Amino acid sequence: MHCIFCQIVAGELAADIVYEDQDVVAFRDINPQAPHHILVIPRKHVSTVNEFAATDAELIGKLVLAAKSIGTELGIAEDGYRLVLNCGRDAGQTVYHVHLHLIAGRSMHWPPG
Ligand code: 5GP
Ligand code: ZN
Repeated sequence: MHCIFCQIVAGELAADIVYEDQDVVAFRDINPQAPHHILVIPRKHVSTVNEFAATDAELIGKLVLAAKSIGTELGIAEDGYRLVLNCGRDAGQTVYHVHLHLIAGRSMHWPPG
């Protein structure tokens, strides 16, 4: 199976990794949409949120907790940040390995486009 994020997890594709633990890896987005744009992903391959199972509840929580740690580490916790999980075509998902976007460093608009 060809998955660029699995390749990053395996160390086969270079990435600017900012956080990693047993279950989660986080790295800077190659095409940042803000001063800080980090992708937080599970090590295991899950294509979209639709493929998450009840047994993934702890893993899903770990993605958010990793984002929180990164926010604190980067000093952006107080100013704030946006966490985005795009699921499927209409949301604009382009890489089919679940990833949580952590976007920060500028004020953002709502609703998103
Ligand atoms: P999506 O549109 O699926 O929610 O987000 C995919 C994100 O992955 C995009 O923001 C895109 O810039 C980023 N991306 C795609 N390929 C690579 C890559 O090879 N390395 C890194 N670091 N980010 C990537
Ligand atoms: Zn993958």
